[in-house]
Amino acid sequence: MDISHEQIEAEKLEYDISVFDLFSIGVGPSSSHTVGPMRATNRFVTELIEQGVLDRVTNVHIDLYGSLAATGAGHGTMSAALKGLAGFVPETIDIEAADQFITKNEADGTLPLAGYAAQDFVGGPPESKTRLISGPTVNYREADMTLRPLTVLERHTNGIKVAAWAGEELLAERTYFSIGGGFIVEENEEGGNNSGLYDAPYPFGSGAELVSMANEAGLSIAQLKMQNELSARTEEQIREGIIGIRSVMTMCVGSSLSRVGYLPGALKVRCRAGEWHRNLLSEDPNKSLDYWMDWVNLIALAVNEENAFGGRIVTAPTNGAAGIIPAVLHYALNYLPGIRHCGREKREQTIVDFFLAASAVGALYKKRASISGAEVGCQGEVGTASSMAAAGLTQVMGGTNEQIENAAEIAMEHNLGLTCDPVGGLVQIPCIERNAMAAAKAINASKMAMRGDGEHRVSLDQVIETMRQTGADMSERYKETSMGGLAVNVVEC
Ligand code: SF4
Repeated sequence: MDISHEQIEAEKLEYDISVFDLFSIGVGPSSSHTVGPMRATNRFVTELIEQGVLDRVTNVHIDLYGSLAATGAGHGTMSAALKGLAGFVPETIDIEAADQFITKNEADGTLPLAGYAAQDFVGGPPESKTRLISGPTVNYREADMTLRPLTVLERHTNGIKVAAWAGEELLAERTYFSIGGGFIVEENEEGGNNSGLYDAPYPFGSGAELVSMANEAGLSIAQLKMQNELSARTEEQIREGIIGIRSVMTMCVGSSLSRVGYLPGALKVRCRAGEWHRNLLSEDPNKSLDYWMDWVNLIALAVNEENAFGGRIVTAPTNGAAGIIPAVLHYALNYLPGIRHCGREKREQTIVDFFLAASAVGALYKKRASISGAEVGCQGEVGTASSMAAAGLTQVMGGTNEQIENAAEIAMEHNLGLTCDPVGGLVQIPCIERNAMAAAKAINASKMAMRGDGEHRVSLDQVIETMRQTGADMSERYKETSMGGLAVNVVEC
């Protein structure tokens, strides 16, 4: 499907996208196929409550379109959609309770609408969250979901339609699109971000604008992004929020390292992170500089294995690409001479600056192209994360604004054309190793940019536009449909 460049232009890019939208807490294995559908159906049930009709619902039906239907089984889309109807939201989901609910539904076909939201909150920013009262328990079986993999709706390939009835009376019907990174939009809804920073003082719409606005204001890119974030939150909230996101990333690695055996699904892929960690600890107990690459690889593998398990994940900016930024940040905190032995204050500042610079670049991809593998291939997911990580790393290495832009450009330039072809529809092969490879590219891009003076031939804007056009030209087989590439050449056991 073509991406409407006119549509992007029409939006005029007069807003910024918050760091908290680009890095949101969710669950694996996919931001577009798991987190997005859960948010969509949860928004639907919230609307039923707001309209005062939830108690009248007797049955619901879900239609999945395009890529959601094609690879939904491997991405947990079907159960995620049900969990959303039951009141679970990605940010606060009790993973164990949610899995128990699915087991019960498979056994007895019951679906308590909003039934698990009693101690929880439903979607949207904190200030607008509404406590829910449980709705009726309806019957919901496999037949209440229709898969339409060959039908691609006009706006985006990841379409989901939800309908609720009271007997024969249609109470509500909504179509949503999961447009990457856990972002959802409803049919005819403008924009495409959940909570844009519309009063941002620096509404940069391009890489060139980002650099020139920052230079004119005498700010680094991280400082400029902070000014934009301040239009929605206090500095304390922003700092605490970013440190909180980093903590979830760290917990995600910890959880992954304790796992043994095989990843879920028929591929029988072994989890490697835990074993690698034990071996690395014995080979390199002091975390010497000789082993930095092994540790970077380990962090990327750990995060993406946890994602494959359906564990708690920070989208960065998607789940499939969630390991790159934690891995590169790990490098920054543990191997950069100016930061490696620093105290807590300096390390926290490093984390904040890293996330802010990375999200400034991520916002450009989100606004000018796409971060959805189903729309532009893996270059939009892993390529974007690599570019964001390169920007973050260059920022904390003390790079100029031009060097940050250059690093982000280099990282994407060498991810152009990357297809999305997950074997068996599972976010495992090539996704897990690909994150480690892209983290290495980000570090190298940053090192190359730091050797230069910021002047370079290909601009970040040109490379983002090239990524968009390449994605538009790419065959649908390579856009998260598992109909091409490795997905058809690697035999599923
Ligand atoms: S190949 Fe890339 S875009 Fe596709 S599922 Fe894997 S990580 Fe995501």
